[in-house]
Amino acid sequence: MDYKSETRKCQNCKKDFTIEPDDFAFLERIQMPPPTFCWRCRAIRRMAFRNMRHPYIRTCDATKQKIFTLMPPDNPMPVYDNKYWYSDNWNPLDYGRDYDFSRPFFDQIRELYNEVPWAVMWTMEMVNSNFSISAFSKNCYMGFDCGYNEDCANNVTVLYSKQCFDGVNMKDCELCYYSINTNQSYKTFFSKNCTSCVEVWFSQDCIGCTHCLGCSGLRNKSYCIFNKQYDKESYKTKFESMKLHAWSGIQKIRAEAEELWRKSPVKYQHRVQVSYSKGDYLYNGTELYNCFFVGTAQNMRHCQSVIYPPNRDGMDITSSDNTELAYETLCCGLAIYKTLAIVECTNANESAYSINCRNVNNVFGCVAVHSKNYCILNKQYGKEKYFELLPKIIKHMNDMPYEDAQGRIYKYGEFFPFDMSSYGYNQSQAFEYFPINEKEAKKQGYRWKIPEDRKYNISIKAEKLPDSITEVTDSILEEVIQCEHKETNKHSFGCDIDCATAFRITKQELDFYRQMNLPLPRFCFNCRHVDRIKWRNVPALYYRQCMCGSKDSPSATTNHFHGAGKCEVEFETSYAPGRPEIVYCEKCYQAEVY
Ligand SMILES: [Zn+2]
Ligand SMILES: [Zn+2]
Ligand SMILES: [Zn+2]
Ligand SMILES: [Zn+2]
Repeated sequence: MDYKSETRKCQNCKKDFTIEPDDFAFLERIQMPPPTFCWRCRAIRRMAFRNMRHPYIRTCDATKQKIFTLMPPDNPMPVYDNKYWYSDNWNPLDYGRDYDFSRPFFDQIRELYNEVPWAVMWTMEMVNSNFSISAFSKNCYMGFDCGYNEDCANNVTVLYSKQCFDGVNMKDCELCYYSINTNQSYKTFFSKNCTSCVEVWFSQDCIGCTHCLGCSGLRNKSYCIFNKQYDKESYKTKFESMKLHAWSGIQKIRAEAEELWRKSPVKYQHRVQVSYSKGDYLYNGTELYNCFFVGTAQNMRHCQSVIYPPNRDGMDITSSDNTELAYETLCCGLAIYKTLAIVECTNANESAYSINCRNVNNVFGCVAVHSKNYCILNKQYGKEKYFELLPKIIKHMNDMPYEDAQGRIYKYGEFFPFDMSSYGYNQSQAFEYFPINEKEAKKQGYRWKIPEDRKYNISIKAEKLPDSITEVTDSILEEVIQCEHKETNKHSFGCDIDCATAFRITKQELDFYRQMNLPLPRFCFNCRHVDRIKWRNVPALYYRQCMCGSKDSPSATTNHFHGAGKCEVEFETSYAPGRPEIVYCEKCYQAEVY
């Protein structure tokens, strides 16, 4: 069928948005009505439903053990420790109820959600790993949204990696530190957007480089410092003079490297082995439309942070893996087929409006149900009755939709309403990708969480830490270190809300810093994370023109296709207008990398 694009007004931001012919084609395939929110507001709505890295220490409501959970204590549902939650000691069907045709569906699912015990689905198959919301990993500490790692700590969205610390969006890496969007690399430090690099420091957009420092846009180079070629011996001498085993050395070189990054052209988008696609931070995929941080995927639309393979034919998916024909799906995986509005589910087929379910087929409006078919609001039906009831519920959702305090209408096909989220906007994934301030969030009717006053017994201020790792003794493991952010307040937007105010150094970290000859960090886990994500763009695309040959860029050299004049090529980029980077089109960038 031929579809035409249509422009509608977003219920949330009130701006016009376009539903593309391919959006209609996908929705037709899964028999869904067109969206009433723009893609951005749909992404925000999903992400607001996920606390990604603000854990709480609580008491399990069943075993009274201390547990680590992402569910803030001001929510009504009981929280169970994982082992108990996964056991047969309780039955989610005990919370089952009849569908009530006199009230909106979303009121009913909210009540159920607030009663059924909660666990963290994404903590699964972890060996010897504490404080981690991750899967299939061994000897890991403080890992969020990570999987298949060994001996790692302080990571967010790091996969298939070994001995990596303080990373974001890393895959197949080993012995890396403080890097972001980096793949297949070994000993890569304080770097971003690098692939297949070894012993690379403070570098961006490098591929296949070894022993380079402070570089930008190099290909298969060795022994370069600030994009200048050295021989092996002089590289070694210069490297050692930088004193990167000391905090002062790291600060000085980082500032110089960031200055070089700013002056070097960047490519208008970040992609590796991608075809027929639009978006940014794309790896190994085809037909990815308006996707960000997506890899090993095919025919996906408006998705974010989908990097575990495989994923195909999906729309509006965030942080999920192994999906096919999924729509409005958040943090689900293992095998997800034909789903609508599901959250933290694994192995779910043809299911909708369900949270924390596993091994389910044909469930609707269920919470924590597992190994079942044909359930609605946690009540078991026979197959015939289920398929008789389902169209009636869908019709009822359209006839008696839910309306929130801001007048947003939720019919069948919408994700869960904002006001059902258990998290403050500022502690949710939405804040990381679409940061807004408290006033704006409240205006939109999003929850906002005032950080509680943490009462740590600070034993040392960060500035009093030894400058060099060589001066650090094991007694550091006993210290409660005050985050430097608390004193200097020098980090960017988001950090004020996020700072944990204090932190400790674990034995695992100390061993790593010593092995790598790196100084102790001076900021808490959260401040470090916020600092690193400044090195990437948020999901958005802007029409811009190549800056090559303009007054803000290095003058075009003779090898450019447009000669000495200005390049006229236009593109869509996630670098917002007015940002400091010098953004080039593909051709101009290729002429500059060497
Ligand atoms: Zn919108
Ligand atoms: Zn901090
Ligand atoms: Zn150009
Ligand atoms: Zn050019």
